Amino acid sequence: MEVLMRHKGMSKAAAFEASVRMLDAVKIPEARKRMGMYPHEFSGGMRQRVMIAMALLCNPKLLIADEPTTALDVTVQAQIMVLLNELKRDFNTAIIMITHDLGVIAGLCDKVLVMYAGRTMEYGKVDDIFYRPSHPYTEGLLEAIPRLDTQGEVLATIPGNPPNLLKLPVGCPFQERCHRVHERCAQVAPALQDFGDGRRRACHWDWEV
Ligand code: SF4
Repeated sequence: MEVLMRHKGMSKAAAFEASVRMLDAVKIPEARKRMGMYPHEFSGGMRQRVMIAMALLCNPKLLIADEPTTALDVTVQAQIMVLLNELKRDFNTAIIMITHDLGVIAGLCDKVLVMYAGRTMEYGKVDDIFYRPSHPYTEGLLEAIPRLDTQGEVLATIPGNPPNLLKLPVGCPFQERCHRVHERCAQVAPALQDFGDGRRRACHWDWEV
């Protein structure tokens, strides 16, 4: 209600009604009754829905969702993802989804920007990133996804640790963990190159080889 009163100049009564409608839109059951409840009276998934409702009240063109499903169990996580997909369509809101969860990305995103140590490593359409990764870091991330058909096998990992962001190495920030590293990687930071097909990549490896 405060959001609507401050940003849209609504009266308290109008803000109340608009808030009930928005709680309905994010599928909070018995929204009107719940308007007087405290946060601790809501489940984790419902609190997340309320946060999303608050973010959408002023019809933003862009919603930035930073790890919106962290700490939720997988069932509630799936519900929130369905909800975000519906809201994207119904409210015509673009979403920047910041997450470590590749499943969330596959389910919601159209385009993906893979970041490492604060820098863009690769950018492209979601299908290109998942089915045709073209950066060693993206390859490592995808190989580390647990899969049902590899049960019993040791899960692949990316060796080493992320660099100290206050003391990044000269050259590529991923060099100490990269299986394609070569001399040039420690000398010059790779520029983000546009390949003209909607794909961009920052890497010295010659992918044509
Ligand atoms: S620039 Fe070199 S170290 Fe960095 S990702 Fe490419 S091959 Fe690996």
